[in-house]
Amino acid sequence: MEKLSGTQTALKIKETLANDIQENLINKGLPAPKLCVVIVGNNPASEIYVAGKIKACSKVGIQSEVYRLSENAKESEVEEVINRLNNDSTINGILLQMPLPAHLNEQKLTNLISANKDVDGLSQANLGKLLQQDETGLMGCTPYGIVKLLNAYNIDLKGKDVVIINRSLLVGKPLALMMLNENATVTICHSKTKALAEKTKQADIIVVAVGKKNFLTKDMVKDDAIVIDVGINRDDTDPRIICGDVDYNNVAPKCKFITPVPGGVGPMTIAMLLRNTYITTMANYKNKED
Ligand code: NAP
Repeated sequence: MEKLSGTQTALKIKETLANDIQENLINKGLPAPKLCVVIVGNNPASEIYVAGKIKACSKVGIQSEVYRLSENAKESEVEEVINRLNNDSTINGILLQMPLPAHLNEQKLTNLISANKDVDGLSQANLGKLLQQDETGLMGCTPYGIVKLLNAYNIDLKGKDVVIINRSLLVGKPLALMMLNENATVTICHSKTKALAEKTKQADIIVVAVGKKNFLTKDMVKDDAIVIDVGINRDDTDPRIICGDVDYNNVAPKCKFITPVPGGVGPMTIAMLLRNTYITTMANYKNKED
């Protein structure tokens, strides 16, 4: 069994990014990329995620700012902030931190973010580009991070049977398309799927993103499978303590490769956010030159 280290892989990606930012922007007298994170309300897990993203930005030379709105902010107020940031040429990336309070329409607000600033890759425009294999789109950070992690370990997806347990827009649906684009045979499972274990037992690669501790057990995994654990389950008393969806101690010995939690998909997600912020910054300069 070998661990797929998201921490190590993300570190290399971030080193390359830091060099690229220095060489292609700072040394040429151009401003550093700038990310604005919009956070609505006081979700404790969101606070931890945002702090991690801001810290990661500063390490590679991306500027960042956090725009805070209160828990009971009206939809029109959030819209106004997004519109302002869309029109602010000093901002290269906008991230609307999820989840939003229940009275706000996440999809509508996400679609308001300009496609070329949508560094989460979740707007209709960027998801549509993924569907059409248009490489000018920004790719969702978690699914793209998973593909990049597999690439980093030279795991070829061509012809592989992949089972993804998740059908959200954040993870499962875009990941299925990305893996399909790399010639995998993809099955998407969810809470209404029948005989889930029969499907996972056939899979060369299992991606689990359910949000339930110990969901994937050893009897659901064939020998030498590759297991990607996306789940983040937080300790009730201390939200800084996390575990994934895999019964790791019992599943890991059967696997060829497995991602740990923490240190697997999480750091890759952040690395892809930084990468998207850089890509969109450079694309903007290129468009101005053309
Ligand atoms: P979500 O929208 O709630 O999706 C959960 C998925 O699990 C749904 O598709 C759901 O099916 C499925 N599911 C629930 N119970 C099931 C069961 N008994 N059998 C089979 N499928 C079942 O959540 P999400 O936003 O995609 O996130 C999923 C997990 O990934 C969470 O733990 C989240 O914290 C984590 N996450 C981690 C990262 C990272 O960077 N590591 C990034 C994003 C998300 P239905 O569609 O039928 O409800």
